[in-house]
Amino acid sequence: MNQTEKPQQKKDVIIVGTGIAGSLIAKLLTDHVFDADAKKMIHRSETDDSKTYKELSILMYEAGLEAGIELDSATSMVTYNDYIRKFYIEEAKVPNSPYPNLKQAPSPNVLDIEPIVPPFPDKKGYLVQFGPMPFASDAIRVGGGTTLHWLGTTPRMLPNDFRLKEQYGRAMDWPIDYETLKPYYEMAEFEIGVSGNVAAQEYPIKESMEEYYGKNYVFPMEEIPQSYMDHQIINGLAGTSVQLNFEEYPIMLVPSPQGRNSTPNIAYGTSKIVKAEASESGYTLTLKNIESEEYKALGAVWNPYMGERCEGNASCVPICPVQAKYNALKTLKKALYKVNKNQNLQRNHNIQVQAQSVVYKLSVDVADQEKISKVHIRRYISREKTEFVEEVIDTNETIVILAANAFENPKILLNSKYTVFENGQNVEKTVANRSDQVGRNLMDHMVMLTWGLFPDPVYSYRGPGSTTNISSFRDGNFRSKFSAWISPLDNWGWSWPAFSPGSDLSEFLNDGLFGEELKDALTHRLSRQVLFHFEIEQLPNPDNRVTINDQYLDVLGIPRPVIIYGLTEYEMRAMEQAKLASDQMFARLGIEDFTKYNATDNNTFVYNNVRYSYNGAGHIVGTHRMGDNPDDSVTNSYCKSWDHPNLYIVGAGNMTTLGTSNPTLTLSAFTIRSVESILKDLENILK
Ligand SMILES: Cc1cc2nc3c(=O)[nH]c(=O)nc-3n(C[C@H](O)[C@H](O)[C@H](O)COP(=O)(O)OP(=O)(O)OC[C@H]3O[C@@H](n4cnc5c(N)ncnc54)[C@H](O)[C@@H]3O)c2cc1C
Ligand code: SF4
Repeated sequence: MNQTEKPQQKKDVIIVGTGIAGSLIAKLLTDHVFDADAKKMIHRSETDDSKTYKELSILMYEAGLEAGIELDSATSMVTYNDYIRKFYIEEAKVPNSPYPNLKQAPSPNVLDIEPIVPPFPDKKGYLVQFGPMPFASDAIRVGGGTTLHWLGTTPRMLPNDFRLKEQYGRAMDWPIDYETLKPYYEMAEFEIGVSGNVAAQEYPIKESMEEYYGKNYVFPMEEIPQSYMDHQIINGLAGTSVQLNFEEYPIMLVPSPQGRNSTPNIAYGTSKIVKAEASESGYTLTLKNIESEEYKALGAVWNPYMGERCEGNASCVPICPVQAKYNALKTLKKALYKVNKNQNLQRNHNIQVQAQSVVYKLSVDVADQEKISKVHIRRYISREKTEFVEEVIDTNETIVILAANAFENPKILLNSKYTVFENGQNVEKTVANRSDQVGRNLMDHMVMLTWGLFPDPVYSYRGPGSTTNISSFRDGNFRSKFSAWISPLDNWGWSWPAFSPGSDLSEFLNDGLFGEELKDALTHRLSRQVLFHFEIEQLPNPDNRVTINDQYLDVLGIPRPVIIYGLTEYEMRAMEQAKLASDQMFARLGIEDFTKYNATDNNTFVYNNVRYSYNGAGHIVGTHRMGDNPDDSVTNSYCKSWDHPNLYIVGAGNMTTLGTSNPTLTLSAFTIRSVESILKDLENILK
């Protein structure tokens, strides 16, 4: 292996990862500059031509290929079209199928998941899984990160999700509540470009929708129309309820807010900026109108002025062919390109993104407040070769931000050891791990699927992946006994549980059907397929964890994530209850149930003598949770490490509990909030 040391120039900020967490921070920081006279950070809109301001120098490291972060119009279009072409030719159209599978920066892949036979781990893929159950979700290491293949569903968390301990005696409460996060949810909905209908939202909470969303609040874009299938199910279930645990739960079917382009909502008003305002105590971000600019749908990365609208192709996972769906490259582009005085987009040379660069370790200066003093990188030289250059950058005067996702952040931290002299002896420590919580409390929504045939055609396979959800079980007293869940209705037939439509074709061919008979059988089956999906909240459990082990290294010699994962009765009981709810809804709708869980499924278990199987939701959460107390959490509520004054760790890993909403809007909201603290730290360094 060809290794040389190459010192880098000092930067104000280092960001590891170009996913939504890293890109949001990059975008918001590059929107601000340092006013050396006033000794404070100000938004670009407040600068005037008579003065010069210090631009922040920012370096982002990205493990994925160089091509993935070239965001000029021509190159980004070529790269994205390569992803689409790969998606077309891959047989198994799983989330990672369009993207490069790199040996130097491997990604977990759902195709690698296998049943685990303890004590032997499943190490077929990138993850080394010790079980007892497989962790069933993936992520992708590519410029823009996992939002390239997310579905784009963006509900907010509910107030009780932040206080599970106080309300239901479970898990741990967040250090912030819903009200604190509310303005940042609005900023996140602006940055992602959420489409939805506030007036149609309905949740099982005591707050009114006006209290929850704020008076007159609307999403930036109009609701994406619910599918025909949704309407048939809504018509059949409206006004009915489900009986569980001796209680009636009214069925609430609501259109899902989602990060994909529809028509801008006139009531949303003008476009906005997220602007920091300084006070004695620090910075507060606010969402301000730009009166001169109308709100526009988010454009494609190759042309920010040309936003394609959702066309209902239903391939949102793994890729949106027209970039109607939000992905983090759209935010990254706003960090890399700024509008100049002539209203043209111009490359901002104060920020660089260095791709093919895998950050694997941090060093600590024990003599200087235990600051992070170095970031260590292995930069591989090409997609084909495994040779790499060893790089180190000094960071004593730099803010370091880990935004590499909830597998990679803890892996980097656990690989970073340092020694301090305490009470007369040398003590070995791990970065940011005073609480011993780094890597622990790994969570995902366990997805239980139920599927069947509707009595009439509902014409599945149309619209985005999901346009409606059942919100009835997102909160309630039952949470003291079993998990809450959200139930999206899926528009993609039985493709997830049964590999339809290919599997239907094989089945009918095997039955000897041909010609008109085959056509009729397929039409009958495919047009009636419905899929309900129950995303079950998993509680934080310190034994569910990402760790590392010198035995398991990747080709660059960097530890792979070693996963220990299982579920408890709390979640198993919720699956039992969710199946009861599904049975009642299917019976009411006249759906013929085809749901089948097999002993050979990868993720299967028996509870009260009944078999259940689950999938992953892609919601990799926990592993560096935020809290009030350095003894039981890794960061404070601004995602700042308790242990190192220049280290932030951001992403879904900060979530104290999971709730029932898909995590990305929430992680975006608190990541945006963390910028307030980062700006204050930068002010202190720069003045
Ligand atoms: C199939 C699927 C569907 C999903 N659907 C939804 C949904 O509908 N709604 C929702 O809210 N969420 C959804 N999610 C989850 C969502 O995608 C993630 O929560 C979100 O993308 C996480 O953002 P992030 O920036 O924290 O991490 P990522 O997006 O994973 O970004 C991490 C970045 O860091 C880079 N990186 C990693 N390691 C290193 C390293 N060592 N050095 C340098 N760079 C590194 C990666 O290449 C990547 O660019 C889905 C996920 C999946 C898998
Ligand atoms: S339905 Fe099609 S056009 Fe709409 S977001 Fe999904 S993939 Fe893109």
